[in-house]
Amino acid sequence: MQNITAFKEYLNKSRKVVVITHFKPDADALGSSLGLSGYLKKKGHAVTVITPSDYPDFISWMPGNNEVVIFQKERPQKAKQLIADADTIFCLDFSSLNRINDLGEIVGASPATKVLIDHHLEPEKFAQYEQWDGTAASTAELVFQLIEELGDKSLIDVNIANCLYAGIMTDTGGFRHSNTTHKVFKIAGELVALGANPSKVSKLIYDTNSIERLRLMGYVLGQKLKVIPEYRTAYIVLTAEELKNFSSQTGDTEGFVNYGLSIKGIKLSVLISDRKENIKLSFRSLGNFSVNDMARKYFDGGGHRNASGGQTKLTLEQTLEKFLSILPEYKEQLLAEEN
Ligand code: 5GP
Ligand code: MN
Repeated sequence: MQNITAFKEYLNKSRKVVVITHFKPDADALGSSLGLSGYLKKKGHAVTVITPSDYPDFISWMPGNNEVVIFQKERPQKAKQLIADADTIFCLDFSSLNRINDLGEIVGASPATKVLIDHHLEPEKFAQYEQWDGTAASTAELVFQLIEELGDKSLIDVNIANCLYAGIMTDTGGFRHSNTTHKVFKIAGELVALGANPSKVSKLIYDTNSIERLRLMGYVLGQKLKVIPEYRTAYIVLTAEELKNFSSQTGDTEGFVNYGLSIKGIKLSVLISDRKENIKLSFRSLGNFSVNDMARKYFDGGGHRNASGGQTKLTLEQTLEKFLSILPEYKEQLLAEEN
């Protein structure tokens, strides 16, 4: 953080804090938020984590989960009141206010001091203090670095360490994606030294499937995964009815998009699903192909170069048509050979 001395000074006074993360939080969003919140509480601040929406069961084991205020679920009034009373708003794992949906306007208009901790590309400027790094693999590692910069690494306990480790593990795809750097291993290693338990966290996140989710996955891989070899592209389209037939819960489709990318020769993979409120797209790519550019230009979204998301208000069929119609524009990039 550039103005770390001023920030340290700012935190010398006890603050009323809300920590907000993005719609449908994933393990990095929730883990970084709860990890930061655990730390700030130890420093004597009053802290509440607010999420715009619910999140999957496989991250609800995180310490502090019981105190999270879910804007959509609880009376929205509660979240609004907490934001109105806050003197400090931390924004974690997102950097454009539309990622927190209805809360975006409220946070934007709030006179509270804002602190951004994030690693998404092309951030909006709305915070007084920023711990932003577009090359970081996860927001959790940025929280770790901030605590370190504040000279408080010794305050990281087992609970905080497990939350932050979970964020790093999932945003690197289990230490497999191209963002898995020396720094990632170094910080993950430090977290383990501070008490994080890799096998426990990995079991809680990756190996707590419901049988319905596995059946849905079988159906998707068997019948719904399509390949367009001439564009080195794979896609999956899921209707609301299909999701309902498999009693799909929040998070059940997490990771499906990676199967498309796991096919030899495939460079771009997308999952298009009908989420009732909108059509949601989840993109993954390999190498220099930027799904961030594609999601931003055509699907009102963004994210990272190799992992992005977006949405449309079109029908599911129209969304697929739109996606297929833009592929020729990207043909050259999709077919380019890379080492
Ligand atoms: P996922 O496909 O796992 O939902 O998201 C992949 C990445 O893109 C995550 O870093 C996520 O925060 C980001 N992302 C997902 N959906 C959207 C969206 O609608 N807009 C923007 N700006 N980013 C998104
Ligand atoms: Mn993240």
